[in-house]
Amino acid sequence: MRIYLDHNATTPLREEVAEAIARALRDLFGNPSSAHAEGARARAAVEQAREQVAALVGAQPSEVVFTSGATEANHLAIHGVARGPAARGRALVASAVEHPSVEEPLAALAADGFRASRAPVDRDGRLDLAALEAALDADTMLCSCIWAQNETGVLAPVEAVAERCRARGVPLHVDATQAVGKLPVRLDRVPADLLSASAHKLDGPKGVGFLVVRGGRELAPWLRGGGQERGRRGGTVNAPGIVGLGLAAELAAAELPARAEAAAALRDRLWDGIAAKVPRVRRNGAPEALLPNTLNVAFDGVAGDVLVEALDGEGVAASAGAACASGAVHASAALLAMGRTPTEARSAVRFSVGLGNDEAQIDRVVSLLPDLVARARAAALADAR
Ligand code: PMP
Repeated sequence: MRIYLDHNATTPLREEVAEAIARALRDLFGNPSSAHAEGARARAAVEQAREQVAALVGAQPSEVVFTSGATEANHLAIHGVARGPAARGRALVASAVEHPSVEEPLAALAADGFRASRAPVDRDGRLDLAALEAALDADTMLCSCIWAQNETGVLAPVEAVAERCRARGVPLHVDATQAVGKLPVRLDRVPADLLSASAHKLDGPKGVGFLVVRGGRELAPWLRGGGQERGRRGGTVNAPGIVGLGLAAELAAAELPARAEAAAALRDRLWDGIAAKVPRVRRNGAPEALLPNTLNVAFDGVAGDVLVEALDGEGVAASAGAACASGAVHASAALLAMGRTPTEARSAVRFSVGLGNDEAQIDRVVSLLPDLVARARAAALADAR
C-alpha cells in the first residue's frame, strides 16, 4: 500500500465524486448553452454546482466563473483587471511568494510597461504587511496575494491585506487554491474582490476551477468566444468536471472543521516523530500561521529530491519543491524569498496530508526516515568529494 503525502500537489479523486462525474459524462452530454431539454439538464447541473461552490466560499452563485483550473482563474483575474474597463493606474502589487501562475502574468504585464512590485516575507514566510501597505498607491490597479503558500503552507494575513486594500480603493485578488477546503475561506469575512481556486486540490477532478468575481466587477475576458459564463469566459463549460467540483465543494464545506483538525493532528504527529528521530532538521514556515495539512522540513545536508526519490522507492509520495516545477531541480522560490541559501532551499521536503491518511501511515514514514536521511546525507557527502 502506497502512502500518499502530497495532497498539496493534487488530491486523489473521492469515490462519490468520481461516480457523479461518470454519471454526468454519460447523462449530461447536452451543451449547457443550448435551449433544448438536453441543454437545460446540463445547465441545471452546472447551476447547482455554482451554488455549491458559492456556498463554500460565502459568495453569490452569480459571482462564480468556472475555469479550467486556478492557473486560468489567476490569468483571468490579473489580465482581466489590467486590461479591463475599470482599470486605473499602471501598477500591480503582490507578495514575494506567489505561485508561478500569478508570477508569470505579472511578469508578462511588467514586460508590457506595467509596474509590478513585491512585498517581502520574513524568514518564517510571514508577509511584511507594512511593506505591502506602503506599495499600495494611487497608481495601483490590483493587489494579488496568495492565501496559503503551496510549498510552505504559510498563511497570509488576508483579512488585514483586504482591509488595507479597501482603505486605498485597490481591488484585491486572492489565490486561495491551497486554502479552499482546508480552512474556512469566507468572502463574507475577508472582503477580497477576486478569488481563485481549483477542484483538484479539494478531492475533485483536475482541469476545472473557478474565479469568484465579487459585485459584478467587469473584467476583460482572458478567453473570448461564445460569451459563456455571462461573457466572462468563452468556451463550452466542462459540465461533468463542474459537477465534480460542486460535489467536492459541498462535501468539503460539511466536513471542514473535523478534517482540518484531523489533518493537523497527523501533520503534528509527523513533525514530532521526525524531530525526535532525525538529527539536524528544521521546520520551514511559521508554525502558528500554517495550513493544517502542510509540513515543510529542511533536512540539513540532504538534497530534497534525492530523499523524495528514496521515499518513493519505499512507497511514500512526498515532494521537493512544487510539483509544477518537477523534472528540473530548482531551489524553491518561496524558500529563497524567505532568505534561505540555495543549498538550504534544496534540502527541503514537503509533506502534505489529506483524506486517506492515518496514524499508522505517519508512523511508518517516521520509522523509515532516519535511515533514508542518513543514506541521503552519506550520498551528498560522497558527491561533494
Ligand atoms: N495557485 C496555487 C497556490 C497552487 O498551489 C496551484 C496548483 N499547484 C495553482 C495556483 C494552479 O492550479 P491549477 O493546477 O488548477 O492550474
